[in-house]
Amino acid sequence: MYEKLKEIIDRSRRIVFFGGAGVSTESGVPDFRSENGLYQAIQVYGRPPEEMLSYSFFRDNTDIFFDYYINNLIYLEAKPNQAHLALAELERRGKLAAVVTQNIDGLHQLAGSSQVWELHGSVLRNYCKDCGAFYDLRCIMDEENRKDGTGAQTHTPYCKRCGGVVKPDVVLYEEALDDSVVNEAVELICEADTLIVGGTSLVVYPAAGLINHFRGDDLVLINKSETQYDGKATLVINEPIGKVLGTCVL
Ligand code: ZN
Repeated sequence: MYEKLKEIIDRSRRIVFFGGAGVSTESGVPDFRSENGLYQAIQVYGRPPEEMLSYSFFRDNTDIFFDYYINNLIYLEAKPNQAHLALAELERRGKLAAVVTQNIDGLHQLAGSSQVWELHGSVLRNYCKDCGAFYDLRCIMDEENRKDGTGAQTHTPYCKRCGGVVKPDVVLYEEALDDSVVNEAVELICEADTLIVGGTSLVVYPAAGLINHFRGDDLVLINKSETQYDGKATLVINEPIGKVLGTCVL
């Protein structure tokens, strides 16, 4: 299987990688949608992750939202793994046109990839809801910036300029994806000769829809479990993606 993947990569000129949560689990960033993530959210907050991460919950229960968000979506110590590093290397070799990701952790850029399309945004970018001021992740994690008007400690980050709530540039449930990012991802997938899909079960919107735009030669699926697209793929590898890409590329 590894030989076949190497052959496909060798003959490709324009690879697009489409990835999901499984790409980052080997970096110690767990999937909040996993069984364990669901269990923990229910145990601690009495609600499933999809509800904790909805726009209406953010709007109506802002401080509980940030408590959950900071404890479950932020992993400051996470480092790129073999999968991220291999994809950055393929870009350097001129083989890979783009990474399209559902992840929000910024690990592809940290590994050295420059052509990264983040469908669900990034925890690294944060903007004041009122005045639009930009804040990096360090800034919103700083407890000094998480105090309300009375000086009491909160989970919510507030804008230093105007006192507004600072919202992560992450697409919450109930929010629409950024059309321009989706359209560019579609275009990239349309123009790819090889599409490597990894670390996603392809059930979360808009993953499945994006794959349908692929018209190239080789569809490669690397996922721990089966997906509904296995029958359409040139190659299916049910192994951890870091191991697969690391072995074939690095
Ligand atoms: Zn502001």
